Amino acid sequence: MAEAQRAIYMDHAATTPVDRRVLQAMLPYWTEHYGNPSAVYRLAREAAQALQQARGTVASVLGCKPREIIFTSCGSESDNLALRGVAFAQRARGKGNHIITTPIEHHAVLHTAEELRDRFGFELTLLPVNHYGLVNPDDVAAAIRDDTMLISVMYANNEVGTIEPIAEIGAIARERGIPFHTDGVQAGGVLPLDVDDLKVDLLSLSAHKFYGPKGVGLLYARDGVPLWPMQTGGRHERRRRAGTENVPYIVGLATALKLACEEVEQTSHRIANLRDRLIAGVLDRIPDVHLNGHPIERLPNNANFTFKYIEGEAVLIQLDLMGVAASSGSACSTGAVEPSHVLRAMGVPPEEAFGSLRLTLGRENTEEDVDYVLKVLPPIVERLRAISPLYQES
Ligand code: PLP
Repeated sequence: MAEAQRAIYMDHAATTPVDRRVLQAMLPYWTEHYGNPSAVYRLAREAAQALQQARGTVASVLGCKPREIIFTSCGSESDNLALRGVAFAQRARGKGNHIITTPIEHHAVLHTAEELRDRFGFELTLLPVNHYGLVNPDDVAAAIRDDTMLISVMYANNEVGTIEPIAEIGAIARERGIPFHTDGVQAGGVLPLDVDDLKVDLLSLSAHKFYGPKGVGLLYARDGVPLWPMQTGGRHERRRRAGTENVPYIVGLATALKLACEEVEQTSHRIANLRDRLIAGVLDRIPDVHLNGHPIERLPNNANFTFKYIEGEAVLIQLDLMGVAASSGSACSTGAVEPSHVLRAMGVPPEEAFGSLRLTLGRENTEEDVDYVLKVLPPIVERLRAISPLYQES
């Protein structure tokens, strides 16, 4: 009974709790400094100053100019703005019609790229990935055509945690003069974000992945990269994204990013140790299990497994009953569960892709949390296998 009341959150790739220091920083911008930053009076100037300061904080983390930061409403919007904004601007300049991306992108990129192809007549190449979900920079070079005008490859995969060779791909894109976007949403606050080192021209981030609020993100767009606004209206964000700025959330994003980067060394190391304990424990205690994603080039908090013969959704429900919040890569669309597009692109057969479980650790997780999961997970898998027709047939 006591065990069932435990609450262990291991879905930090989905979202993170807001850091209390971040919340404190945000609060005054609702009730005290609530002015519209575009107005001229003192109350507005306070908000404008906070906005300027937040932009400066983010720019110093990314190693860019403050004017190159566009605040948005989420990571999905940042990805949309990057792909649509560059695609339409490039086409209007006669720079071509061809976009390169990968089949393992988050849907915010993948569905946007597919819509640009299907509704707007752009041409799209989806690069191959290997069984770890890694993109080979040589494949990027080989896919480039004379009419290629945008490349987008994610920094780290949200399902399997594999980290892509962004700087190498960036160097190839730069040599050919092609704008290069990376979806850095899962990397924010965890991996190095210097845009010059990464050789990226556009980078998306979302605050709720690094202990900031949901509903605010940013797009870094290097000066000179052609980018049409996708939301028109006022002159906000240097005419690249209209709408009164959400000052409290932007303050929250900047505070969260700064704190995460200041503390990254010590938290990442601790979380990676927990992850390794979890991975070793699962592989040791459960038969017919496979670790998805790259064994080394992976996010410090990500453990993703496939359990043969059973469905990840069923494991999730059982884990929830035991007080553990986790995720599976499968997506529920129109009532039917579909296997993860990421695992499918990595060559995992559909029946195995259904059996995936993602556990993503965070700052508040402890060794006891990991040991508790290692205690409850093996019997769950065993029970589900006992009633699985696939297991009986094996
Ligand atoms: N890109 C990646 C890699 C993600 O993991 C997510 C969210 O899970 C997004 C984009 C979308 O971010 P948001 O939830 O802020 O729209």
